[in-house]
Amino acid sequence: MRSIKKLLIANRGEIALRIHRACHEMGIKTVAVHSTADADAMHVRLADEAICIGPPAAGDSYLNIPNIISAAEISGADAIHPGYGFLSENAKFAEIVEAHNLIFVGPKPEHIRIMGDKVEAKRTAGALGLPLVPGSDGAITDVEEAKALAAEIGYPVLIKAASGGGGRGMKVVPSEDQLETLMQQAGSEAKAAFGDATVYMEKYLGNPRHIEFQVFGDGNGKAIHLGERDCSLQRRHQKVLEEAPSPIITAEERERMGGVVARAMADMGYRGAGTIEFLWEDGEFYFIEMNTRLQVEHPVTEMITGLDLVREQIQIAEGRPLTFEQQDVEFRGHAIECRINAEDPRTFAPSPGTVKVYHAPGGMHVRVDSGLYQGYRVPPYYDSMVAKLIVYGATRNGALRRLRRALEEFVIEGMKTTIPLHQALLDDPEFQDGQYTIKWLEEWLAKQD
Ligand code: ADP
Repeated sequence: MRSIKKLLIANRGEIALRIHRACHEMGIKTVAVHSTADADAMHVRLADEAICIGPPAAGDSYLNIPNIISAAEISGADAIHPGYGFLSENAKFAEIVEAHNLIFVGPKPEHIRIMGDKVEAKRTAGALGLPLVPGSDGAITDVEEAKALAAEIGYPVLIKAASGGGGRGMKVVPSEDQLETLMQQAGSEAKAAFGDATVYMEKYLGNPRHIEFQVFGDGNGKAIHLGERDCSLQRRHQKVLEEAPSPIITAEERERMGGVVARAMADMGYRGAGTIEFLWEDGEFYFIEMNTRLQVEHPVTEMITGLDLVREQIQIAEGRPLTFEQQDVEFRGHAIECRINAEDPRTFAPSPGTVKVYHAPGGMHVRVDSGLYQGYRVPPYYDSMVAKLIVYGATRNGALRRLRRALEEFVIEGMKTTIPLHQALLDDPEFQDGQYTIKWLEEWLAKQD
């Protein structure tokens, strides 16, 4: 066991602030690292120390491993939390951090590596007993083999990049005559985007929901689950709004599937926080990938379990056991998160700018995770998400009413945001009913024009 006294936050924006808050509540000092574009960021102001690690381009700053390690050494930090995105799923980074005798607040590097390669991840998940989407057993290279397999699975099929991420590197193949062309395209696009042309094939599910389970492992063969999140509301495979629990998963299903994922993580010896993503259709779960990090949407799980997931991550990284057993975990009420982006709510064109007026909603069971403040200039170089609004209610309907009220109070002037999109969604009877799949939002958006 090794107590963390000073932690370097290798990230920016709301998640950097989120990590800072957990640290200060635990009596841990924080070191912010930032690009020149982020010198005025809220987490930089609040951290105990701040070190500039490079120019605005992420490749030169937030992805600059030597500069981040140097910042940890200079400041005397004993741990690094990578947040999400950037270096959070980079196994090499985790190894380098550990090689410098620093604590990496995250999984074992070998698990990051396995799960980062989707072909390897699927093979591992299958061996651990998780249900898979029917598809190729590993990478596909040969067109004739691909044709035979697709005929067996049935069209449409999906060609996916082994190194893909962020919803990129996928091609839907409607029929055999397009298979060869789309396979080649997928491969060359994957090569350009991820430096790896490896692709694999999956059955394309027609109208599934995206359901993911939060897991925690102690690294020594003990693991628990914290239930599921429903992240089916997506645009271009990017999540827009998430809720927990899922409106369509029963308590029995949660316990059964949660048990399956927790056992898989225990068998693997997984350490820290992770998310196992499934597609769900007609009562069946199909594993698609595992994220070996904290997720953007983790607060909805915190709301219904009362647990602080970053605190839990830090304690596991210190070598302490999990602070709770599976039977201690209680799911109570309902939580919804809206991702608020600095974008035009109709065209989704980025809209960075200076915050002229800022007023965050408050009141009972309302949480805002955001680095925004009056006078802050949103830099144009990074992700457009500027705030997360999370509400809790004893029931789903209660949470919906609270969300409507909180969105009414939210004032962000000086840029366009997606707040009006969330307000319009809340008025839709199908959404109110929880009747939506991963296709639903795009169809709904098409109807709005
Ligand atoms: P990424 O790592 O790029 O996010 P995922 O494998 O998690 O890739 O898939 C992202 C999204 O793509 C899913 O949430 C779902 O909307 C869609 N998707 C992935 N696999 C399938 C599939 N086999 N059938 C239908 N949709 C899929």
